[in-house]
Amino acid sequence: MDKMEDLARRDLAHIWHPCSQMKDYETLRPIVVDHAEGPYLYAADGTKYLDIISSWWCNLLGHCNPKINAAIKKQLDELEHVIFVNFTHEPAIKLCEELAQVLPPGLTKFNFADNGSASVEIALKIAFQYQLQTGHGEKQRFMCLSEGYHGETIGALSVGSMDLFAQMYKPMMMNNIHVQAPDCYRCPFNKNREHCQCECFKFAEEAFAQHARETAAIIVEPIVQGCAGMRIYPPLYLKKLRALCDAYGVLLIADEIATGFGRTGKMFACQHAGVTPDIMCISKALTGGYLPMSIVCTTDKIYDAFYDDYNKGKAFMHSHTYAGNPIGCAAALAVLQIMKEENILANAAVKAKYFNAALNEAFGQHKNIGEIRHIGLINAMELVTDKNKKTGFDGQLRIGYEIYKKALTHGLLLRPLGNVIYFNPPLNIADEDLAKAVALAKQSVDEILG
Ligand SMILES: *Cc1c(COP(=O)(O)O)cnc(C)c1O
Repeated sequence: MDKMEDLARRDLAHIWHPCSQMKDYETLRPIVVDHAEGPYLYAADGTKYLDIISSWWCNLLGHCNPKINAAIKKQLDELEHVIFVNFTHEPAIKLCEELAQVLPPGLTKFNFADNGSASVEIALKIAFQYQLQTGHGEKQRFMCLSEGYHGETIGALSVGSMDLFAQMYKPMMMNNIHVQAPDCYRCPFNKNREHCQCECFKFAEEAFAQHARETAAIIVEPIVQGCAGMRIYPPLYLKKLRALCDAYGVLLIADEIATGFGRTGKMFACQHAGVTPDIMCISKALTGGYLPMSIVCTTDKIYDAFYDDYNKGKAFMHSHTYAGNPIGCAAALAVLQIMKEENILANAAVKAKYFNAALNEAFGQHKNIGEIRHIGLINAMELVTDKNKKTGFDGQLRIGYEIYKKALTHGLLLRPLGNVIYFNPPLNIADEDLAKAVALAKQSVDEILG
């Protein structure tokens, strides 16, 4: 038996993979990766895969980036981990100082966790407790956008889209208020995202008029709803939301776990709208996709509402064992350093133009591609059966999955989100690798859809 299949069998004897129907692995074997470099994964059988989705949107500057590797190795010999209550260390301190420089102005206080979902839980708890401690104990509920995604823990799931897989846990969830999200491709007002006044914002206004009194916070993915199929909405929506939150005393939580660190062309997606949220969650690209770490960023105003004598019971008594892990901080510091010294944002902007033009050239006329939407280097293609009617492949929900499997046979890692296939490459990917991704995607789509 070859090495790949031997390892695959041993994997399947024990490992329950995330977000998978394990039966699918009978035909699509787990791919054993033994090393990686830049945007490429190298499998144990010698196959090379172009990772055009940054390994679940987290790998920001290529796999095994020499500078991040060096920073981690250096940190490893100095301090690997330490309790973060009463103890601290320079990597965490420096990281917060640096983040405060690049975040939307006013985000000055940082609470660490170890994954995106955990940071969402923290954000919700902080918002709830803030309202309680500032005389608004009646504000106990949360609002969210109907197609949002904020993670898989019970609290995070309950502020997300109530899709098939979330629905079954409903009895375990909080009773939140789901506001109909913008859907610019299938705009219910027949506008388009370049020329609209965010007419769909009326759904938020109506929800606030009815429920703001009992609402602690609204959580949104700013500008791009990732899991919804990289749905992109105008910055104006976020501006309006900031104003509405202020008018009603509802906190604005921005989940920048997927959008942060240059993915949308700006350092953070909120910056497209010039908006500072009350609470912001960051993770994924924070460590360049190396180590599990997340940070909840907030303002002095929120922080001050928790600051008092211990016996007043106002402290935020939440902890994670790996909060502030020094190796994670060292990786994150290296990411910020590289972004500056390699001028990553400006270079990525040039690549983004090139990439979108190449995708339009290859797919613009394709009968089954309804829209190629893009922001930064994120590009998403909506698969439709009829371009005019914008009808999805319903009843064949796994058309994206078929394209994904085909692309793998051509050495391209291209994940679907339902009827959408998307690209979310590392920001420093070479133009020739972008061109290669377009060609391989074209070949794969054509082989499935003709
Ligand atoms: C990935 C993601 C999360 C969850 O992060 P995990 O680290 O997977 O728990 C939350 N929100 C958004 C927008 C994400 O993309």
